[in-house]
Amino acid sequence: MIQVNQVSKSFGHQQVLKAINLTVPKSHVYAIIGPSGAGKSTLIRTMNALESIQAGEILIDGISVHDKKTDINKLRADVGFVFQSFNLYPHLTTVENVAIAPIQVKKVPKKEAEEKARELLSSLGLGEKFASYPGQLSGGQQQRVAIARALAMDPKLMLFDEPTSALDPEMIKEVLDAIRKLAASGMTMVVVTHEMGFAREICDQIVFMADGKIVEVAPPEQFFSNPQSERAKDFLAKVL
Ligand code: ADP
Ligand code: MG
Repeated sequence: MIQVNQVSKSFGHQQVLKAINLTVPKSHVYAIIGPSGAGKSTLIRTMNALESIQAGEILIDGISVHDKKTDINKLRADVGFVFQSFNLYPHLTTVENVAIAPIQVKKVPKKEAEEKARELLSSLGLGEKFASYPGQLSGGQQQRVAIARALAMDPKLMLFDEPTSALDPEMIKEVLDAIRKLAASGMTMVVVTHEMGFAREICDQIVFMADGKIVEVAPPEQFFSNPQSERAKDFLAKVL
């Protein structure tokens, strides 16, 4: 589903992605972990063309993300993205937030889009909040609306960049539960996270990044019990 081939990227003189290779098969869930500044956000943002690249290629379901001929709106519809900050429209209700992209981008009739929005919100435990505005919701509820909004486009895969980092501890679980449910439904996902327990439990592979490189890719039980690199050992010693 995702193929990253020899991808390099610099900001000015600083090279932040150094010849990255990564393959994520359909219906697999990969966690990207590693120290701050490793390039995790930059890597995941290149996957839906939020960032350009200077070398290499990224294919999403066979489509070259950075090819000038690629329809970027179509690509973004196929690739759901959930950020640390929820970025909801403050003046729209939850239903309107979830329905707006299908209506505007996919030309889905309003009634149909809003019906689907209500279904998605209900499935994420927000059945009581159809008429609420983002400012009336907790952070965890807002993040679940953001997940519903991404799912409303029927994406082929979902990317999450630290989806729980801005949340109070008691709200982290409800968002991780939503992601867990998606994983069980067979959604292909890449999740940048600091939640090691979560990564260990639901991910097929752990991708450990440091200094713009992928240092290790391994199944969680192997990575957490027997990391191969000094960088990963150091990192785990600090976070576990
Ligand atoms: P991570 O998500 O692993 O913490 P990032 O991908 O955000 O790391 O950042 C990797 C490096 O790239 C950092 O040194 C960061 O300062 C730099 N960086 C990220 N975004 C930009 C930008 N828009 N302009 C310049 N430097 C950036
Ligand atoms: Mg980041």
